Amino acid sequence: MSRNTLTPGITAGRLAQAEYETNFADLHAPLDPHEAAVAADRCYFCHDAPCITACPTDIDIPLFIRQIATGTPEAAARTILSQNIMGGMCARVCPTETLCEEVCVREVAEGKPVLIGQLQRYATDTLMAQGTHPFTRAAATGKRVAVVGAGPAGLACAHRLAMYGHDITLYDGRDKAGGLNEFGIAAYKSVEGFAAREVDWLLQIGGITVETGQKLGRDLSLDQLRERHDAVFLGIGLGGVNALGLDGEDKDGVLDAVDFIADLRQASDLSKLPVGRDVVVIGGGMTAVDAAVQARLLGALNVSLVYRRGRDRMNASVFEQDLAASKGVRIITNAAPIAVHGNGAVREIEFEYTDDDLTPTGQTFRLGADQVFRAIGQTLTGDALPDLDGRKIAVTGPGRTSMSGIWAGGDCASGGDDLTVTAVAEGRDAAEDIHAQLAGVAG
Ligand SMILES: Cc1cc2nc3c(=O)[nH]c(=O)nc-3n(C[C@H](O)[C@H](O)[C@H](O)COP(=O)(O)OP(=O)(O)OC[C@H]3O[C@@H](n4cnc5c(N)ncnc54)[C@H](O)[C@@H]3O)c2cc1C
Ligand code: SF4
Repeated sequence: MSRNTLTPGITAGRLAQAEYETNFADLHAPLDPHEAAVAADRCYFCHDAPCITACPTDIDIPLFIRQIATGTPEAAARTILSQNIMGGMCARVCPTETLCEEVCVREVAEGKPVLIGQLQRYATDTLMAQGTHPFTRAAATGKRVAVVGAGPAGLACAHRLAMYGHDITLYDGRDKAGGLNEFGIAAYKSVEGFAAREVDWLLQIGGITVETGQKLGRDLSLDQLRERHDAVFLGIGLGGVNALGLDGEDKDGVLDAVDFIADLRQASDLSKLPVGRDVVVIGGGMTAVDAAVQARLLGALNVSLVYRRGRDRMNASVFEQDLAASKGVRIITNAAPIAVHGNGAVREIEFEYTDDDLTPTGQTFRLGADQVFRAIGQTLTGDALPDLDGRKIAVTGPGRTSMSGIWAGGDCASGGDDLTVTAVAEGRDAAEDIHAQLAGVAG
């Protein structure tokens, strides 16, 4: 019997080949030049534009939209990329509905914002399609900087420092650069190998040597890096995953959502990727939604996302919650897991209803599950790091840590909001501070 969505257990090939292609196609089709002109025409080019303030990288949004409106998308791309070198990826993954588009005056007045994200993608895609790089590297300074972690924070930091003429070595523990752009972002937000293409394009600035398979704490130490370089930037993200802390959590079929997503992102043939028939995802953030939606798109019959508080407390935005619901994911709130049942492999997971303040109610229920994904947050890993603030590296101002000569930014550093665009902003700002120190002008 051929496998389909009804086949019990964890199995690959639930769908016909064409269904995988449809399911994992681009979430938003790119705008064509006419659509871009129409969308740009809706912008009021506001003075004191609120959309700029809402952008973590402070892109001059009215300026780049005007440049699109006047038929110069390459100039628009320069405006974007001068603030945010990963403007191409951010155009695809930014939760614009809670950032620039939320405060757009046309959203406030009419409930229909200017399509800032899609216009940004139109501009950056136009420029990148030409295969050229819009910036040039300054004359070599002879200063050497180590950047650890080739995710959005590390890449943005490395690019800005390389532009100033410093020599950068970009180390990453994995075998591929890109961080969560490559291994985490939902497949339908970044199609056709865009993450890898963007890294190649960014490296065209020159002056950046990428060393993959080099993990801090295993192959490198901070002391070595400080000895060999004039400055060090840490953009190591959050490599660990929180456990549920339940009996039975080690049963077969209980997995970390980030591992499932990484396997999916690296799969060359999605029909070979196994998924359960009855999948339960535990968590309420972007990772939980992405795992749940992608499990459905791979052909899981029943996918439930269970979150311990109310919907309004979920970290996933309303857009993402709606996306999950539109793909057939059932969202259950105010329920916390209390036990994993099964003999060797998970068969059921038991929950208890909770109040919004997480007080257990004593009322329980069970969901049948052949696959369970944990998505209750990631954690910083590593020893001998600079001082922590809570569970992240403590930073002040533009990423200065407790150790002199060492900066940090992105998800691993205190104070951010765990978004791609914030990581880019923090990497860029740390690079500016490092450059000022190397040039002897910072305090
Ligand atoms: C599943 C998922 C989906 C997401 N979706 C979105 C989204 O749609 N939109 C959005 O804005 N944000 C999203 N995010 C958040 C976003 O991906 C992160 O905020 C962003 O990637 C953080 O960038 P970073 O450079 O700080 O860390 P990362 O992207 O995690 O990069 C860290 C890099 O450091 C490397 N590294 C780690 N430890 C070491 C070490 N000891 N030595 C050497 N290298 C090391 C890693 O291999 C990695 O390449 C998502 C996150 C997840 C998990
Ligand atoms: S707030 Fe909206 S209308 Fe005003 S400049 Fe920004 S995108 Fe244009």
